[in-house]
Amino acid sequence: MSRQHLLLRELGLAPRWRLRHGAALELESVSMPVLAPVAANLVPAATPAQPVVAVPVVVPVAEAVPAPAVVEPATTALPDWADLQQQVASCTACGLCQTRTQAVFGKGNPRARLMLVGEAPGAEEDKLGLPFVGKAGQLLDNMLSAIGLGQDDVFIANVLKCRPPGNRNPAADEIAACADYLRWQIAHVQPEVLVTLGRFAAHALLQSDAAIGALRRETHQYQGIPLFVTFHPAYLLRSPGEKAKAWQDLLAIRRALANKA
Ligand code: SF4
Repeated sequence: MSRQHLLLRELGLAPRWRLRHGAALELESVSMPVLAPVAANLVPAATPAQPVVAVPVVVPVAEAVPAPAVVEPATTALPDWADLQQQVASCTACGLCQTRTQAVFGKGNPRARLMLVGEAPGAEEDKLGLPFVGKAGQLLDNMLSAIGLGQDDVFIANVLKCRPPGNRNPAADEIAACADYLRWQIAHVQPEVLVTLGRFAAHALLQSDAAIGALRRETHQYQGIPLFVTFHPAYLLRSPGEKAKAWQDLLAIRRALANKA
């Protein structure tokens, strides 16, 4: 079994989907309903396929969503990368500084072409000082591997640099207090493509409160950078039925990177 197939199986997409030379994607015979292939590169496999059933778009169950943060333009000069790391490490701009173990700045290549933005550190991230570790991080690694990207090809950060106690949702004032750090990180990395993981990151960068199911259907812009909205890997772990949609998002991200090359 190929590494690609193993990765897709890890994503919960095999045996339904498999990559064929280049970007072609095939629909294999399955016993469970799958999304109708909507991308141009989704083609039926030669093997007998069961009828494809279109799955209605399921908008994630709404949790209590704070009002989108009002992201004001940065008023101070862009600090250099080392200063920025130091500022985040010692920040006391919101109450989360009192409960964190440490601030989580980000990880990956600060010159990466692709930058991913998540929500906030969880318990393991708070302990280790790195974003996206644990099962959600493992799934994200596998998702990136499935489109040929390793950790050196991306930079990953969160909207909030400190863990909300009990992994509660970020509060609007916390997102606003932390907004400049993310803005400065993006200014330094200057990615060719931005991807938000989950609704808090999408809402923070797009200043929108639209449902993620609607936002992920189009390509957005953040200060001239193409921005894609997709699900948070932790949500995909809870809702594996959404992985097929995440795979569509990954293909769109891969196409955007290819078009920029
Ligand atoms: S979450 Fe952001 S604003 Fe709040 S203390 Fe941490 S680094 Fe500072």
